[in-house]
Amino acid sequence: MPDFDPATIDLHFNSLVFDGHCDTLGHAVAAPPQHRDLLTRSEKGHLDLPRLREGGINVQIFACFPGADRLHACPTAAALRRLEAFYHLMRRAPDQLALIQTADDLARATPHGPVHGILGLEGVEALGGSLDLLYTFHRLGVRNIGLTWNPRNAAADGALAGTSYGLTPFGRDVVAACNDLGIMIDVSHLNAAGVEDVLAFSKRPVIASHSNARALCDHPRNLTDDQIRGIAEKGGVIAATFVSHFLHPDFRQASLNDLLDHIDHLVQVAGVDHVAIGSDFDGCLPPPELNSGEKYPAITQGLLQRGYSPEAIRKILGENFRRVFLEVLF
Ligand SMILES: [Zn+2]
Repeated sequence: MPDFDPATIDLHFNSLVFDGHCDTLGHAVAAPPQHRDLLTRSEKGHLDLPRLREGGINVQIFACFPGADRLHACPTAAALRRLEAFYHLMRRAPDQLALIQTADDLARATPHGPVHGILGLEGVEALGGSLDLLYTFHRLGVRNIGLTWNPRNAAADGALAGTSYGLTPFGRDVVAACNDLGIMIDVSHLNAAGVEDVLAFSKRPVIASHSNARALCDHPRNLTDDQIRGIAEKGGVIAATFVSHFLHPDFRQASLNDLLDHIDHLVQVAGVDHVAIGSDFDGCLPPPELNSGEKYPAITQGLLQRGYSPEAIRKILGENFRRVFLEVLF
């Protein structure tokens, strides 16, 4: 375990910590040597159930990201396998892992109880262009949906598609159905026109589960100050992420300090009620100080050192995400 000072440990492990994004389920379904049993502590990758606990993470959004094989395999099957990996883990460790599907489920998540998961889709490829399957995935527990990953799909264009098209009619239907079903919409991978459309069409708050500030690191996956203000004005949150390429223009120099700089900037632009954290564990190259779940309290220590009040830190660690999900879940 890394060394943290007593004030950090007291605040961190008595606060609700809610992380907006990880790709860890991909490792549960991967073939060897990438495969990991998430009940067992590993030195490989970033997260497993033991390291979620060591890092004091109480609520984790688990994305179903079909990965690099998305164009070749069946994305619906890829998403279903990842969902089943979560359920399988929960069956094996019912006292350690719980699923959040309703506002009541979320209300039961505490700093000291089992880890609570929220299931998400990263890109709607798994829907196969059909709104019917959105209802199916909702029945299967999905409560967070990013409309795209980086390229274009049936709903919208991703941040790296190199286009300026907004949501398709299907994309608008997905937003409306998510609003009706109580599924959070996640704008993190959308291009600028897509973010604008979601902010215009969604009747409920939305989140950016793993994005940083374009003002500090000019990457198309990061958000402009106008987008940051737009998400905040809608009542949502922007979750700062550990992705080195989104932290620093030279990813090799990215550090915990850069993450704290992005959090500072988000707080200045959006206000402290609209800032959160989304690691992207197991989906990115994080800086060395944040490259494993048990290092998570380093953020709390860094924010304390920068003079943030315990109340503000609790909001950023989890209370803001909790508030927004309580508004959207039924
Ligand atoms: Zn992502």
